[in-house]
Amino acid sequence: MTSVLEPTLGLLHEQADRVDEDLLPCRANNPELWFAESPADVEFAKALCQECPVQALCLDGALSRREPWGVWGGQLFLQGAVIPRKRPRGRPRKNETAA
Ligand code: SF4
Repeated sequence: MTSVLEPTLGLLHEQADRVDEDLLPCRANNPELWFAESPADVEFAKALCQECPVQALCLDGALSRREPWGVWGGQLFLQGAVIPRKRPRGRPRKNETAA
């Protein structure tokens, strides 16, 4: 038994099970929004997360699991890291440099 409460996916589900599903935006709305291709849909999902009662736990868990993709805890994850926003499809701008 550990003394530190780790933000596991199991713990998130446990917490989420204690609140009314209607209060969890990713359950009350179309879950596809949280993995959407459209930048506008991703921003909408991020905004909906702000109303979620388990947002902090969700974000902590996603950070510790290094989620590969999707909106978790009001942030967009890509390859385990939070990125500010999703880029639209298409060619990168000419003046963009590789990170
Ligand atoms: S914070 Fe997590 S659990 Fe809450 S709506 Fe967003 S993705 Fe779903």
